[in-house]
Amino acid sequence: PKPVVAIVGRPNVGKSTLFNRLVGNRVAIVEDEPGITRDRLYRDAEWAGRVFTLVDTGGLDFAESGDIPRQVRRQVELAIEEADVILFLVDARAGLTSTDEDTAALLRRTRKPVLLVANKVEDFQRPGQLAEFYRLGLGEPIPVSAAQGMNTGDLLDRLVSVL
Ligand code: GDP
Ligand code: MG
Repeated sequence: PKPVVAIVGRPNVGKSTLFNRLVGNRVAIVEDEPGITRDRLYRDAEWAGRVFTLVDTGGLDFAESGDIPRQVRRQVELAIEEADVILFLVDARAGLTSTDEDTAALLRRTRKPVLLVANKVEDFQRPGQLAEFYRLGLGEPIPVSAAQGMNTGDLLDRLVSVL
C-alpha cells in the first residue's frame, strides 16, 4: 500500500497551496480569508520514484462551532491515526501561535515521523520568524514557499527519506 502523508496546521498557513504544489495540480481550494478546506482531499504524488498519497486537511465537518483550535485538534488526531508521515505546516510570516503550540504538543506524542515546515519564506536572507519554531520541539523547521515553489524539492527529499 502507498504511504499516506498528511498536511496539518492551523487555517491560512498554506496547507492547500502546498498540497496543490506537491501534487502538481490545482485541486484544493486556496482561501484568501482564514478559512477551512471544503473537504479532506486525497491525491497521489510522486518524488524520486516514490509514490505516496497526500492528504489536505481542514474540513467543514468541524466548522460549525467556529472553534478553530478544536477543529485543528480533531484534524491532527485524524492525521495521527491515518497517516504514515505528518507535515506540520506553520507560517513564518505570522510567527508562532498558541494553536501551533497545541498542535505541536499533540504531534510530539506520536512515534510517526513529523516534519516541521515553515511556509511563506520567499526571501531566504530574511526568513521571517523561523527561529522561534525551534521551540516547538520538533526539530529544525524546513523553510519553503508553497506559493513560489521555493525549497519544495528539499522538502520532498526529506519526506521520501522518512517514507
Ligand atoms: P490553508 O487554509 O492552510 O489551506 O491555506 P491556503 O492554502 O488556503 O492559503 C492561505 C493564504 O496564504 C492564501 O492567501 C495563499 O495565497 C497564501 N499563501 C499560501 N502559501 C503561501 C506562500 O508560500 N507565500 C505567501 N506569501 N503566501 C502564501
Ligand atoms: Mg485549505
